[in-house]
Amino acid sequence: MTPTQKSINVVIAGGGFFGCSIALMLQRRGLRPLVVEAEDELLTRASRVNQARVHGGYHYPRSLMTAYRSRHNYERFRSVYREAIVDRFTKIYGVSRLFSKVTASQFEVFMKRIGAPLKQAPDRISKLFNPTLTEAVWIAEECAFDCSLLRDRCRRDLENAGIPIRFGTRVQSAEKAADGVVVRLSDGSELPATLVINATYSGLNLLTHGSHLPPIPLKQELAEMALIQLPEELDGLSVTMMCGPFFSFMPYPSRGLTTLSHVRYTPHLQWFEKPGEIPIDPYERFSLLKKQSHFEYMLSDASRYIPALRNAIHCDSIWEVKTLLPQTEVDDGRPILFRRDPMLPALVHVMGGKIDNIFDVEDEIDAILASTC
Ligand SMILES: Cc1cc2nc3c(=O)[nH]c(=O)nc-3n(C[C@H](O)[C@H](O)[C@H](O)COP(=O)(O)OP(=O)(O)OC[C@H]3O[C@@H](n4cnc5c(N)ncnc54)[C@H](O)[C@@H]3O)c2cc1C
Repeated sequence: MTPTQKSINVVIAGGGFFGCSIALMLQRRGLRPLVVEAEDELLTRASRVNQARVHGGYHYPRSLMTAYRSRHNYERFRSVYREAIVDRFTKIYGVSRLFSKVTASQFEVFMKRIGAPLKQAPDRISKLFNPTLTEAVWIAEECAFDCSLLRDRCRRDLENAGIPIRFGTRVQSAEKAADGVVVRLSDGSELPATLVINATYSGLNLLTHGSHLPPIPLKQELAEMALIQLPEELDGLSVTMMCGPFFSFMPYPSRGLTTLSHVRYTPHLQWFEKPGEIPIDPYERFSLLKKQSHFEYMLSDASRYIPALRNAIHCDSIWEVKTLLPQTEVDDGRPILFRRDPMLPALVHVMGGKIDNIFDVEDEIDAILASTC
């Protein structure tokens, strides 16, 4: 056993934003974590390939809890990660007249209830929208994050805290041992630990399966977001159309472009991981997916609402596995998953669902440590 192995007592599987942040939380509480990351860098998967929205509650008008928690965490996230925050754009939310699961007045009442500011959009903005399809548009307070700057921050924080990271290595299993857990890694090594955090997001059930534990019910989606250059008329704007099979475009600061996503066309493939079934490796399925862009479908639907969008230029697409809890099918909420494994309580599964949920994880960590000590 190397000196590093001797001195660690928590193994964190996954060096995404959640794994890194949890490592820091545990270290501040006196534990000695090791981060094990399958890739050769931190924050390369979902924490990098996402829509970069710091949620302000507007996106969840059918889930009071998610919307309220987003609003609650919004200013805190902006302040704690201020170097990664990008807010020099105007955020617009609109409600569609057709197929929307909320009306404009329901949206307004809901946002008032959670304390999310909404201002009627001025004429120069509302006239960009097709009035036959659009019931109302507002200016909201919502910003974006730069995933490269967030990664630099995580890297620096882990380094300053002296937390070791093992790159290019997978956590394959966690199994009960005489005094805790033994963790097996893909490089053949074994580590003893008192606590293991499964922060692998799309890979949560690869670890449960490797450990002979029942899977966590999850929904997996192979998602595409088009990276576009906005036409001049829409420069400095970001639009999200609510609430149903619509579209959104948001700045993607690390590439200096804008993501365009569409509820109907962003998912290329989806499936459920269920108890009693052997999980499909989502990363493998992702790498086998023929990445034929749905950009044209996204654009042709979105430009019915905003005709000027027709002149957007498709520069690239970014792809990732999106992992959701099955209950999101009902209200589109993003509750955090934070669960001690019922068969192996020293293994804790964590899935944030969205970046700003990180502060809710902190409370759960305290509860776990209180019940462990
Ligand atoms: C298309 C899309 C759009 C999104 N849009 C937004 C948004 O606008 N705003 C928002 O807040 N959230 C958004 N999200 C959600 C957000 O990206 C995730 O909630 C968040 O990034 C999850 O962080 P994580 O650290 O849990 O996962 P990840 O960043 O995926 O980290 C998990 C890490 O675990 C590693 N790993 C996997 N298996 C193993 C193993 N066995 N051993 C070791 N390492 C392993 C992976 O390589 C990866 O680095 C979006 C997600 C997607 C996919």
